[in-house]
Amino acid sequence: MSQIESAFGIYIHWPFCAKKCPYCDFNSHVRDSIDHDQWLKAYLNELRYYANETSVNTVTSIFFGGGTPSLMKPVVIEAILEEIKRLWTCSESLEITAEANPSSSEIQLFEDFKQAGINRLSIGVQSFDDAVLGFLGRLHNSKEAEKAINAAAHTFDRFSFDLIYALPDQTPDQWRRQLSDALQMAGDHLSLYQLTIEPGTAFHKDRVAAANEDTGTELFEITQELMDQAGLPAYEISNHARPGEESRHNLVYWRGQAYLGIGPGAHGRLMGADFETEMIHNFREPEKWLELASTKDLGMQKRRALTAIERRDEIVLMSLRLTEGLSADHFHTLTGTDLADTLDQDRLQALEKVGFVSFGDGVLKATKEGRQRLNAVLSHLLV
Ligand code: SF4
Repeated sequence: MSQIESAFGIYIHWPFCAKKCPYCDFNSHVRDSIDHDQWLKAYLNELRYYANETSVNTVTSIFFGGGTPSLMKPVVIEAILEEIKRLWTCSESLEITAEANPSSSEIQLFEDFKQAGINRLSIGVQSFDDAVLGFLGRLHNSKEAEKAINAAAHTFDRFSFDLIYALPDQTPDQWRRQLSDALQMAGDHLSLYQLTIEPGTAFHKDRVAAANEDTGTELFEITQELMDQAGLPAYEISNHARPGEESRHNLVYWRGQAYLGIGPGAHGRLMGADFETEMIHNFREPEKWLELASTKDLGMQKRRALTAIERRDEIVLMSLRLTEGLSADHFHTLTGTDLADTLDQDRLQALEKVGFVSFGDGVLKATKEGRQRLNAVLSHLLV
């Protein structure tokens, strides 16, 4: 029997932002006007459609992501949450997160978001340095970032903020100072991402280069050192929390558990009989999804069962991001198969020998060194 409790998450995607950041490859768009009522109806249609087949699950987490969901009207958030609670049983410790940006108008709405039902806020701070915020194309400044954090700490029991590091020319000393300062304001969770230049972004087009690999590795090590000292160790490659304060919703993904994705570009994983797992992908383009979800109740583009190998690969790929790794018991609960039997023993042993993974006591883990080069480790392991 797995030690990991069963979980079922619902993700709601709001695809709009006030401005597109030059490094962003999320499904986010800028529009002059948005009909919030029409969007609400479409979200409710899609929720009702999936409730028919998933209402036996107890919802353990809800996540409003984007885009910038703090631009949603609080009444829309409230109506979505009321409908979820009407359609499903929700866990007593239901985690309801919304992502927010630190602009003044959004800060003023934090109390309304709380009244609407949000109980955890994740703020896109990215940096406390105005020059860096300008480089990243953010609309807020460092003062607003601090205000947003103070307001979140005052309003919500649980909050987190994101920072981006490994910027061009960022030195280890600078990052050490910036992260130490940030820790003075942190709650019990921080997300710390290295800048990556993704195809299709303005940074990619302009050939902006992130920090080189050696500097990136050094900055990553500084991050682990400072976060360990602060009592917020990494529980995932880029996510750090005081034990017990991890994002329950994101753990659903990394632990290969079931979730619904509602909204444009959202994806879901539903589990059926005989360990069958279906993947669902929605249309990405906001207006296309809106039209379908308004008229046909759902904006789904693709739905199919994963093969056993696809399912194994995604479970291993996601869970090796976690410090806790992947227990053979949990893998068996998800797939009905034996983890060791599904892996190539020669390849596994080669990775153990060089110290990139361990498989002791029935738990497969990437070591700290392994997590730093996880893509290479996975492509060697998953054949
Ligand atoms: S605010 Fe976030 S989602 Fe929106 S464009 Fe910037 S990085 Fe992307």
